[in-house]
Amino acid sequence: MSIKSNIEEIHSKVIEACRQVGRRQEEVTLIAVTKTKPIEAMEQALSCGIIHVGENKVQEIINKYPHFENNFKWHMIGHLQTNKIKSIIDKVELIHSVDRMKLAQLISLEASKINKVQNILIQVNIAEEETKFGIEKNEVEAFIKEAAQLPNICIKGLMTVAPFVEDAEENRPIFREMFQVFVDINSKNIDNVTMDVLSMGMTNDFEVAIEEGATMVRIGTAIFGERN
Ligand SMILES: *Cc1c(COP(=O)(O)O)cnc(C)c1O
Repeated sequence: MSIKSNIEEIHSKVIEACRQVGRRQEEVTLIAVTKTKPIEAMEQALSCGIIHVGENKVQEIINKYPHFENNFKWHMIGHLQTNKIKSIIDKVELIHSVDRMKLAQLISLEASKINKVQNILIQVNIAEEETKFGIEKNEVEAFIKEAAQLPNICIKGLMTVAPFVEDAEENRPIFREMFQVFVDINSKNIDNVTMDVLSMGMTNDFEVAIEEGATMVRIGTAIFGERN
């Protein structure tokens, strides 16, 4: 299978998932997760109309960015160490993985140095897996209220990495719970916070995630094949 036909297939699955629940396909943004994949694969994705790419390592963004610069919108989707913020702050459209106050504070600080307001998502550990990063569900609101006061970040929504499951249906209750948190936070009308983005769903479960309200899906394997 080629990258082109993989992307076409994903687009039609996105359309079908939207149709199932009466959503418009424009409500869902596809992020092509390019981690570990070479420049050539990314060039192919670009020529197929991919606009958004996701990486989980700072070093990979640094290495790849010069080849594409703003031809892509870059998403940081992996765990971020505070000492590495500086090297990506001028490159990334959206940081999905904000999971602690110190990180939010230092993103705001580094953004201020380049006169940027950095868009971020708050990562939620909705399934309460010990191995996963993210804020626990019952702490999300308090966290957002505090982080929202930082001057150079703008909180745009929530992100989660659901458990790996054989059957995507197993994650449906998790996605549903995330959507509920998303709606709850939205209803609080917190200053400087908009709940526009709900980033959830990967190769194995993106259709279910869309049916449950995802606005961004992060897909690697289904586009580029297995990673080494
Ligand atoms: C790798 C990764 C993805 C993509 O996973 P696939 O199963 O290959 O689609 C999505 N989100 C995050 C945070 C990842 O690290």
